[in-house]
Amino acid sequence: MKFIKFTKKGIYCIPGRFYLDPWYPVDHAIISHGHADHARWGNKKYFCHHHSKAILQHRIGGDILIESMGYNETRTINQVKVSFHPAGHIIGSAQIRLEYQGEVVVFTGDYKTQADFITEPFEPVKCHTFITESTFGLPIYHWKTEQQLQEQLHHWVLQNQTNNKTSVFIGYSLGKSQRIISLVDGLDTIYVHRAIHNINQAITSSRIHLPKTTLLTSDLYKKDIRE
Ligand SMILES: [Zn+2]
Repeated sequence: MKFIKFTKKGIYCIPGRFYLDPWYPVDHAIISHGHADHARWGNKKYFCHHHSKAILQHRIGGDILIESMGYNETRTINQVKVSFHPAGHIIGSAQIRLEYQGEVVVFTGDYKTQADFITEPFEPVKCHTFITESTFGLPIYHWKTEQQLQEQLHHWVLQNQTNNKTSVFIGYSLGKSQRIISLVDGLDTIYVHRAIHNINQAITSSRIHLPKTTLLTSDLYKKDIRE
């Protein structure tokens, strides 16, 4: 791995002169996805997948300099070929493939190998060096399929409806929320917190379709109390 270096600011591509998901401000940052522990404030220039662009603008600030490209496109930066490949983690999440003088490095960022209903599925990419962040990769973790999860959620929501109870889901505003929304779509009106509403707006501004949701406001609370 002669062209990648681990530094205090993060993973650095020596010939490319850019960092991957840097921890501290740098001149040129290539960002795997919009979560705050990967897309940080203060970089001079950002480069990410098209679908992460509006998310970064929303979370970091509208006036930052961001360039973007799609999956499986290639851009050469200082003789390093850079391409993005689906990571299956959240909307816009990308593995970053770097090729320099015939050597290939893949940096995954966060990734999920099991498909869901809303994220571009994970794509395995051949490489010489694989830089992975694997929080739940141990064999002790077993995951249900998205279909099994959906069945469970539907069963619970329908049971609550029968008992005249409201179903409440709590999930992180970027990623889990859109996944939950996709799983319960069609069962009833979906109300969302403003943090989720704002992220949804950023996502749909990239021409991605999300199920219909309604912003939960204090007016709705008052209306409920009166009724
Ligand atoms: Zn993440």
